[in-house]
Amino acid sequence: MIYKILNYQQIGPNQVVRLRCPICRQRGTLENVIGQDLQFYNPQNAQSHAGLRRCPDPNCYSLIFFVIDGGKLAESFPAETIDFDATNIPATVQSAFEEAIKCHAESCFVASAIMVRKTLEELCRDRGAAGGNLKERIKALGAKAVLPQELLDGLDDLRLLGNDAAHIESQEYTKVGKEEVEVGIEFAKEVLKAVYQYAALLGKLRALKKP
Ligand SMILES: [Zn+2]
Repeated sequence: MIYKILNYQQIGPNQVVRLRCPICRQRGTLENVIGQDLQFYNPQNAQSHAGLRRCPDPNCYSLIFFVIDGGKLAESFPAETIDFDATNIPATVQSAFEEAIKCHAESCFVASAIMVRKTLEELCRDRGAAGGNLKERIKALGAKAVLPQELLDGLDDLRLLGNDAAHIESQEYTKVGKEEVEVGIEFAKEVLKAVYQYAALLGKLRALKKP
């Protein structure tokens, strides 16, 4: 969204800005470091505020720009992203999935769906699931990784969502928008957990047992 500031005043930093830090992914109430915010009216005549804050974590301290519109956080830069735990996920899979999440945060939903599909491609490659096309590779993945049937079925739906995103007209979904992509990302997170994280968690739990 583009904001045009016709009339404004500088005011004290009276806005509380809470979000998941786009850099370190921790939730927090951001700190004021500049001293003043801008107060202005957006084109719909709602009172808005803009300013700068920093992440309160001393290991991060990232600078974040925000716009609050009608009392709600409307924009931040960098944009707030969906949370994602990358523990034990190989670099190629992680890199594709993080790009999907970044595209979603920037409202580039078609690009995000295509990157979710690329995440699946990288997942199959990493697990050595071979086949002539992604449909076959997903099938082969079922034999290589212990996945509940619902996740396996859903993987094929994710593949179709990515297919639709890559074509001018959707074949399977009515559209590839915010909601479709958010469900797709949440689903892909569950698949990545099942493939890469359950075993490590089980290992940790077992390591706590008496010898
Ligand atoms: Zn941070």
